[in-house]
Amino acid sequence: MSETKIIKTTCSTCGPCCEVDAYVKDGRLISVEGARNTPMQSGGLCAKGAAAAQYVYNKERILYPMKRVGEKGEGKFERISWDEAYEMTADNLLRIRREYGARSSVFYAGYSKWYRPAMLRLANVYGSPNFCTESSTCFQAAALAWRSLYGNGICRPDLKNTNTLMIWSSNPYHTNTPMSKMFQEMKRRGVRIIDVDPRRTVTAHDADIHLQLIPGTDGALALSMAQVIIEENLYDKEFVDKYVYGFEEYREYVQQFTPEKAEKITGVPAGKIRLAARTYAGNGPAGLMFSASPVVHHINGVQNYRAVFALIALTGNYDIEGGNRTQPGPFSPANEFGKVRRFDGEEAIGQKEFPVWFDLSCDEAQCTMLADYIAKEKPYPIKAVFAMGLNHRMWPQPEYLQSSLGKLDFYVNAELFMSESSKSADLILPACTSYEREQVHIGMGGRFFFSNRAIEPVGESRNDIEIVMEVYRRMKLKDHTMCDEVLESGYEAYMEHILEPSGLTLEELKSRPEGMQGKNLFPPAVKTYENEPFCTPSGKVEFRSLVLERYKDSHGYEGLPVYHDFRDNDAVDRKEFPLILNTGSRKPQLFHSRLYRMPWLKNIETVPMVEMHPEDGKACGIADGDSVRVISPSGEIEGTAFYNVQGKPGVVYIYHGCAKGDANELIGKDYLDPISGFPGFKGYFCRVEKSGETGDEE
Ligand code: SF4
Repeated sequence: MSETKIIKTTCSTCGPCCEVDAYVKDGRLISVEGARNTPMQSGGLCAKGAAAAQYVYNKERILYPMKRVGEKGEGKFERISWDEAYEMTADNLLRIRREYGARSSVFYAGYSKWYRPAMLRLANVYGSPNFCTESSTCFQAAALAWRSLYGNGICRPDLKNTNTLMIWSSNPYHTNTPMSKMFQEMKRRGVRIIDVDPRRTVTAHDADIHLQLIPGTDGALALSMAQVIIEENLYDKEFVDKYVYGFEEYREYVQQFTPEKAEKITGVPAGKIRLAARTYAGNGPAGLMFSASPVVHHINGVQNYRAVFALIALTGNYDIEGGNRTQPGPFSPANEFGKVRRFDGEEAIGQKEFPVWFDLSCDEAQCTMLADYIAKEKPYPIKAVFAMGLNHRMWPQPEYLQSSLGKLDFYVNAELFMSESSKSADLILPACTSYEREQVHIGMGGRFFFSNRAIEPVGESRNDIEIVMEVYRRMKLKDHTMCDEVLESGYEAYMEHILEPSGLTLEELKSRPEGMQGKNLFPPAVKTYENEPFCTPSGKVEFRSLVLERYKDSHGYEGLPVYHDFRDNDAVDRKEFPLILNTGSRKPQLFHSRLYRMPWLKNIETVPMVEMHPEDGKACGIADGDSVRVISPSGEIEGTAFYNVQGKPGVVYIYHGCAKGDANELIGKDYLDPISGFPGFKGYFCRVEKSGETGDEE
């Protein structure tokens, strides 16, 4: 009998790529633990990562390339060879480019995210401006809001040196479990924690001040904090005078947001708003931790986040020790691979509707409206989608996208599982998990580490980047840059190339399981703005965004971080839909729709849980555990009522992605932030009615 080996690798089930120790016996993954002896880990692991063996050996894994044999969408496939699959992909993509032009092919990178640079390179060389990712509904809108103010890359809070940490709509205990240890250490150090969250989460429970706002009112809250900070002269006058553009207009605008007025809008008591403002501005240095999605999953999300991010500059916490700091560089994993190629005169999808998305250097097209572009053939026909990990349940009204995908001339999806999103595909390619491949990773602060292959790929599954490379070779494309050689030379050369700017070699990194600090990093610096202007049109932090104002006439964008309440919606009869609907708030055991197939995780919640405050439940005549129907202006689903006092009365929470009733079907496909194109997942409207029998269905 062979010994159990412990192999250092990574989990990328939900995105952050946590370092883990994989226990492997006779070539099989037995179990997984959080890696020990690494800076970010404590040996702990989240529920999703702990269920890794059910992920890797799931009965729904795709083991071979599968070609459609039935009608589109019928879900009938037969096994083919990799050789045939590559030829089929290359032939169809080349044919569609010949017949309709390169822009008619969309290259989409979903989950996991690690292969994005290679996929972008393929799209570039093919000639399509339409490289898109799942960031069309996640994170990029937050980045856009940041860049509209500061111009450059996002600055994270300097957790080691901060005295106050304001966490804005993030619950690190559930979203980034390895961080929980660091969070506890900060508490012991006496760091004051302000948590802004519509729900009383574990993080909120541990905070010194919890600002429990009504979802989507973040902008009003931030502007009110600014009003207090300015009125009480707590702002950093020197920084503002020198480095902020549009301060006087901003000062005038925020005057109306007194804490008493903001209390009426946000539901947060005026006294708490004052206390939080005084703590953040007065007990510095202060860091702001923010999240990818909750704030920007509102139709006023970008402006709300602009109001939040402005607080950093207002209080002089930008790029100082203990504030929000720029990162040491260069440590981009992408270098040449990840550079977007602009196609002059070639309109990318989303460009007309969301021009700021493109101006503020998001390296991709905006594809929230992909279903419309395919179905209506506007702005031009989309004929092919080459996707990796496409999940239609990340879009509003996902069934509409599903039916649109069925209209494509050619649709290929590389996936781990036989997902519903692949049902209308012509070809499904089996991808492997992070346990079945090697990978170079870049951690916080320029630390590099190598992730080993813990087990051989399951079935004939392959590494996504190797799939991209082979499609590139079969199409006989020529890159005419040094990347060409890399794409030709294979995955090992790719890893070397990615590592090159760091000054490390693959060989030395492989020999150091604890990871290594990059050699070519710029030493960490503070106050970088003293030496170079901000990368904005004015060269300053733009409280009044000149980029947004470019589209004042055409799109109605405003330069200041103005607050428009999403509840002022003439298109929806609030008597008919009196409750606010919030979909997709994080759950520790779920990640979009992927993990419903894992027994340990799905059995925690077998039907869509409609989380209601007991006050709302009683007002609607609904008891805890009743079967209910949730109806929005865009659809309806069935679920089970679950009394929950974490949120405020008036708001219903439902996690999305469940095939038995996907809450995202309730969100209108056109209910989008006009600046970013992000759907208003966390601030729509509904009513809940009792239906059928009482009790759990399973
Ligand atoms: S948070 Fe959990 S599921 Fe996500 S990558 Fe880390 S260990 Fe895996």
